[in-house]
Amino acid sequence: MSFLDDVRRRTDDYPPYYEAPVGPHKRYDQNVNLLGPHPAVRAAVRTEDAHLYPSRDNKPLLDALGHAFRLPADHFWVGNGSDEILDLLFRLFLEPGQRLVVPTPSYSMYPHLARLSRATYVPVPTNDDFQITASKLLGHKPDLVLICNPNNPTGTLFDPRLVGELLESFEGPVVVDEAYAEFAGASVLPLVDKFPNLIVTRTLSKAYGLAGLRVGFGVGHPAVAELVRRAKPPFAVNVLSEQIAVRALADRSHVDTAIQTIVREREKLAQGLSALGFRVWPSHANFLLTLPPIGCEDLYERLRKKDILVRLYRHEPALRDHVRFTVGAAADTRHLLGALEEILGRPHERRVGA
Ligand code: PMP
Repeated sequence: MSFLDDVRRRTDDYPPYYEAPVGPHKRYDQNVNLLGPHPAVRAAVRTEDAHLYPSRDNKPLLDALGHAFRLPADHFWVGNGSDEILDLLFRLFLEPGQRLVVPTPSYSMYPHLARLSRATYVPVPTNDDFQITASKLLGHKPDLVLICNPNNPTGTLFDPRLVGELLESFEGPVVVDEAYAEFAGASVLPLVDKFPNLIVTRTLSKAYGLAGLRVGFGVGHPAVAELVRRAKPPFAVNVLSEQIAVRALADRSHVDTAIQTIVREREKLAQGLSALGFRVWPSHANFLLTLPPIGCEDLYERLRKKDILVRLYRHEPALRDHVRFTVGAAADTRHLLGALEEILGRPHERRVGA
């Protein structure tokens, strides 16, 4: 079957996308919203239209997005999760062999999607504090620059000047993946009218607690958005997900409360982990990247025996010893720190007598 041999030759060295072990684990490995689904999922959905396709371009969803993000609806397009949005952007904006330049370490799907679109993935290592300059990125002759902000898996928020400097000095597309922007309270969305080469990708999978519905969206200058809408698969978001997403976007108060809880728990978990001897990187997202006081494989297995899943980076040399924890509710912080204390012993009472 020579047609399969050809495909195998091209895809053999693709690391598989992260696959969690099967089990009744509590998932601190996926950066979803551990507070649970947005209450809009409990609203009645109209199933009587399920034999029909969604409206072309999911018009009701575009309107809801425009309202929620205070931009005209013609700035948006939607997709089956922001992974699909990124896939489409790479295929649309990169010719085979063209260069996708990304500060690394970053999200593992980028090299995977780049290869599928036959683009050249150019990882550019960040400094010790996971920051990078525009000139360093541009020195790698990009055809498209992708910035994940806040960055997964480091949690870093890039220096606010970085995207502005890229937009001022580079005419090609600058894609900013803002999957975790709600937890940072920072976004470049207000810049899309001024810079037609800025494209922002967002998702309802994280702060909105709707990862299972697969709703992502892109935001850009109307000229860009129109072009992408014309090229994209027309019915990427199904009618049931669309109905729930429209309702969730209209109720921001639930999301705001979830963000406040997660930001508060992020600090508590960071302090607890530091007291247990972890090095904890500053995070602006709903997860913490850490360097544990014992070997990461050992820690992973011992947590797994307690039905707790966390994330390791076996395919990322820069993060080989690191462990990432998703931040959730107060009960999740207690659960994680309690399990880690049992594994590592209680932190020293350093302040006693000090
Ligand atoms: N971007 C980043 C940085 C992510 O971490 C993720 C999810 N892990 C995504 C995009 C994709 O999210 P979704 O497809 O669920 O919108």
